[in-house]
Amino acid sequence: MQIANETAVWLKYTLRNDAGEVLDESEDNDPLIYIHGQGDIVPGLEKALAGKAAGEKLSVKVTPEEGYGVRSESKVKRVPRNAFEDDAEIEPGTQFQAEGPDGVSIVTVMNVSGDEVTIDANHPLAGENLHFEVEVVKVRAATAEELEHGHVHEGHHHHH
Ligand code: ZN
Repeated sequence: MQIANETAVWLKYTLRNDAGEVLDESEDNDPLIYIHGQGDIVPGLEKALAGKAAGEKLSVKVTPEEGYGVRSESKVKRVPRNAFEDDAEIEPGTQFQAEGPDGVSIVTVMNVSGDEVTIDANHPLAGENLHFEVEVVKVRAATAEELEHGHVHEGHHHHH
């Protein structure tokens, strides 16, 4: 079976940056599981996987435009300390999830100066070329229930 919209896909992958450093990889016995065609993975990788079958290995270079986006300086903002919860640990490098107009995004604290916190709402991998080494482990049709839930009902990532 080939990867197409509404198939459930199991992937092993390694993600590297331009310098060849490993940014992320799947665990040996814990492949990434996603439903194709619903934007669960970055668009450039999703596009490259269409039509592939179990056992196929591919190298995919994804540009920022088809990855985590280009960096935007307008997403670097200064906000007052009291915009955060009182017990939140706010120090350079702290990352947390924020609800915005475009859904949930990862925000990184850049700097703390008195009552002012500089945050960067660019995705940590914005502006980066993504180099994926991917192996397709398994492909099957997603069930009606899985499509309704938007996730696959197998493996370690299943939760409700
Ligand atoms: Zn479910």
